[in-house]
Amino acid sequence: MSKKHFETEAIRTQIERTEFLEHSAPLYLSSSFVFEDAEDMRASFAEEKDRNLYSRFTNPNTTEFVDKICKMEGAEAGYAFATGMSAVFSTFAALLNSGDHVVSARSVFGSTHALFTKFLPKWNIETSYFKVDEVASIEKLIQPNTKILFAETPTNPAVDVLDLEFLGEIAKKHNLILIIDNCFATPYLQKPIDFGAHIVVHSATKLIDGQGRVLGGVAVGPKDLIREIYLFSRNTGPALSPFNAWVLSKSLETLAVRVDRHCENALKVAEFLESHSNVNFVKYPFLKSHPQYEVAKKQMKQGGSIVAFEIKGGVEAGREFLNAIKMCSLSANLGDTRTIVTHPASTTHSKLSEEDRLEVGISDGLVRVSVGLENVEDIIEDLKQALR
Ligand SMILES: *Cc1c(COP(=O)(O)O)cnc(C)c1O
Repeated sequence: MSKKHFETEAIRTQIERTEFLEHSAPLYLSSSFVFEDAEDMRASFAEEKDRNLYSRFTNPNTTEFVDKICKMEGAEAGYAFATGMSAVFSTFAALLNSGDHVVSARSVFGSTHALFTKFLPKWNIETSYFKVDEVASIEKLIQPNTKILFAETPTNPAVDVLDLEFLGEIAKKHNLILIIDNCFATPYLQKPIDFGAHIVVHSATKLIDGQGRVLGGVAVGPKDLIREIYLFSRNTGPALSPFNAWVLSKSLETLAVRVDRHCENALKVAEFLESHSNVNFVKYPFLKSHPQYEVAKKQMKQGGSIVAFEIKGGVEAGREFLNAIKMCSLSANLGDTRTIVTHPASTTHSKLSEEDRLEVGISDGLVRVSVGLENVEDIIEDLKQALR
């Protein structure tokens, strides 16, 4: 079949029908698969046959989910994980050796930061950080043993944007593996591989599920690198469960329509906040005031679902704002149908020093809004009354 459009692939990529001719792909809750005879079993374990053996390796539901993400991201192969963090960790663990070096943006997901600073050093792997507004300094950080260049864009929680084309050029020039965490944008809005990324990782827990139900992760990229990640993972066991794969594959069928509405609502919320007198500034990639607006326009189809803003009055005002929220949820997740507000300085990032927080763009009054799919007038009404 010729290549179809994004939405069509998301709906029509499906594992083979069984003899029951079901319309919607069934759930294969089976830990293992059977063999015809000793020779079939031998050939299967020798990987002479492309088939399912055991669900820690592959399962029809995870295969369908991975196939869809590969088509969406324009990647050759992939592997699905129990969580976004197991995708990130297994990718690094599979591709790095003791003594290797990583260069990464400083603004990364909290647990990814913990991986770089607390765990990879146990295996003699060091990471050098660059600030999101100092990408020109990246080349100075590259050493002879640097193997991976890593970034997220847009970043969490400050919604900064990194230039993927620029990162792709640096990776190419220095022969580095460029890994992009594409969680905030989703492949519907941004395709890092088009700009030179080798591997794309996702927390499927966020917009891919989109309804706050299951955890999941995925890594996609070229066959040879994914093969290494697969061999590491089939032995160490971070596999996605078939049930969660089934849920996530169904979710992908509606990714485009959901993300369209998330973006439409988020832009309206961002414009409302920008006009409010109790707000110092708003960060949303598709607002003209965003410092990387031109980069965002170049690499993203729309601005995404996350809006950050600084409330006047610092930490206390941020806490009061959360207490005044009536409808929106106070929760750690994002990319849900339900709008979620968080105040990083008093919660997720409260253990950091003020200096460290400012380095990743978290001022005392910064509030992150994961704009959901409720009617946007109700979302704005809640934010408006809380800002009062
Ligand atoms: C949530 C998140 C992760 C981790 O994903 P889990 O599914 O929670 O393990 C990684 N990267 C980013 C950008 C995230 O937002």
